[in-house]
Amino acid sequence: MSLAAGRPYLAIPGPSVMPDAVLQAMHQPAPNIYEGDIVTMVQGMVPDLKKVARTDGKVAIYIANGHGAWEASLTNIAGPGDKVLVCVTGRFGHGWADMAEGLGITADKIDFGTKTGIDATRLEEALKADTSHEYKAVLFSHVDTATSLLNDPRPLRAAMDAAGHPALLMADCIASMGCEEFQMDAWGVDIAVTGSQKGLMVPPGLSFVFVGPRAEQVRKAMPRVSRYWDWTPRIDPDFFYQFFGGTAPTHHLFGLRASLTLLHDEGMEQVWKRHVTLAEAIWAACEAWSSDNGALRLNVADRALRSHAVTALGLGERNGSALRQWVANNAGVTLGIGLGMETKEDPRGEGFFRIGHMGHLNAHMVLGMLGTLEAGMQAIGVHHGPGALGAAAKVIAAA
Ligand SMILES: *Cc1c(COP(=O)(O)O)cnc(C)c1O
Repeated sequence: MSLAAGRPYLAIPGPSVMPDAVLQAMHQPAPNIYEGDIVTMVQGMVPDLKKVARTDGKVAIYIANGHGAWEASLTNIAGPGDKVLVCVTGRFGHGWADMAEGLGITADKIDFGTKTGIDATRLEEALKADTSHEYKAVLFSHVDTATSLLNDPRPLRAAMDAAGHPALLMADCIASMGCEEFQMDAWGVDIAVTGSQKGLMVPPGLSFVFVGPRAEQVRKAMPRVSRYWDWTPRIDPDFFYQFFGGTAPTHHLFGLRASLTLLHDEGMEQVWKRHVTLAEAIWAACEAWSSDNGALRLNVADRALRSHAVTALGLGERNGSALRQWVANNAGVTLGIGLGMETKEDPRGEGFFRIGHMGHLNAHMVLGMLGTLEAGMQAIGVHHGPGALGAAAKVIAAA
């Protein structure tokens, strides 16, 4: 018998759960786009967006998903014949590198695999070897959503400084912004990209490129940038139309206004802390399930390298897929598929799954999701260690 009726829970790493306040803000008639409320609303929103990234730089808003922000960020600073260096810690690093190649940019990769974060020493060596400073930028994923590895930008900035290399530091914060602590200016990040549908809790369709002063200078030296992706008019707040290069994405903007209000009413520090505690509760449960020869494996062993927004897990054989199907069909919870974890024995990565725990998420949702996972493992007959829910409850109670 299915017990899935009731409010469903989308526990995937984006799109994330949409708050009622966002849904309600979007439920309204088409507004006047030439003047009035929406124009003032967008102007007021820009400082709130920059507060999420902790930057005094500029922000360009695009009507695009995260892939659009990937391309936008690259086209403004590099073109055919240029080179960038990509630190890869999972599928999303490969994706951004591929986007560069499509633009005629040579993307050299350092691949750190799927279990460990970026080794800043190797980055420093690669930059020191680039004596003629051909690399225009170093790209990395703050969180790689496929592996759930978290990469601290600070050692990367330190490595670049130690190598005396002028490349821009570019962060993919699509899975992390609004979830993980991020301080664009203080941490020396020149460009950060994000999308609307993860920590920002708005449907997919908007993306953002945050631009620091050094990146603005590099853009100014570009011979040409395609009109739509050029951030120059978009970072100039004088004309509302120029934010969008055409019709404004009105209802996404209403939703974003509501989500920024939620984030800043709670306070970014508190939002980051909430993600840390809820992630620790999930890890405590997963570690208990792994004990006693349980089948479950956290992809990232070192807690310091784990994202607080998404967790990649292995369950062996095809049990990742079986668990996802069971919890969706019987309990109203949707889990994320395994990504980039294919092996010879498991060519479709069906032994893996991911829990998205980003955005509009509280303790009862996490405890309910964990209880559902335990029921699912029992139902599909996966061996797991005891005490997971108690361990998670203890983390929540201690907070
Ligand atoms: C989701 C995600 C992307 C891709 O975003 P889309 O909106 O699906 O294009 C890129 N990078 C990371 C780290 C992501 O989590």
